[in-house]
Amino acid sequence: MEQRHRWYIRGGMAAVLVVGASIASGASQRAHVHGVGHINIVVEGKQATVEFLAPAEGLYGFEHQARTKAEQEKRDAALARLQEKISTMVVFEADRGCQFTTKKIAVEEDMEDEHEHGKGTEKTQKKSGEHSEVHAEFTVTCEKPLAGSQVRFGVAKIFPTIKTVHVQALSDARQTGVEVQGNKGSLRL
Ligand SMILES: [Zn+2]
Repeated sequence: MEQRHRWYIRGGMAAVLVVGASIASGASQRAHVHGVGHINIVVEGKQATVEFLAPAEGLYGFEHQARTKAEQEKRDAALARLQEKISTMVVFEADRGCQFTTKKIAVEEDMEDEHEHGKGTEKTQKKSGEHSEVHAEFTVTCEKPLAGSQVRFGVAKIFPTIKTVHVQALSDARQTGVEVQGNKGSLRL
């Protein structure tokens, strides 16, 4: 279960809330915390890009490279489920008529050199493959402009161990963010 990793938090958590620049720079400011995912939404008129990031542990239970056939199957099933269920995880208003297209689904090894321990500044050497993240990007194409519409979230319905999701959204109308706990939380674009 790798419970011990739950408490590893990298620096820069607060910076994530500054939005703007961090939507563009993405990975550099995120903390790798088991049970916590990130969704970034960038809206342009009737189109949006949805980025989903989460520790691999929350999607298929491990973060080392899949070594056995069973592990490969577990990983591939989880990635397929992500692709299939993204519209349940990020829910646009039905009357906008939105369709998701997958741009990218990848498992990325955590490239940070060190982790800060949650309770202090103790640094630990990174072991290769110790942590990895699933990074997916989707293009959303809608029949009506998205600005002003509401987005709801259901990540924990699909991946129950991802209990918290930090969401940031940037649209023509506004820039906003919300912390979703157990599928409770929404935002207006
Ligand atoms: Zn991890």
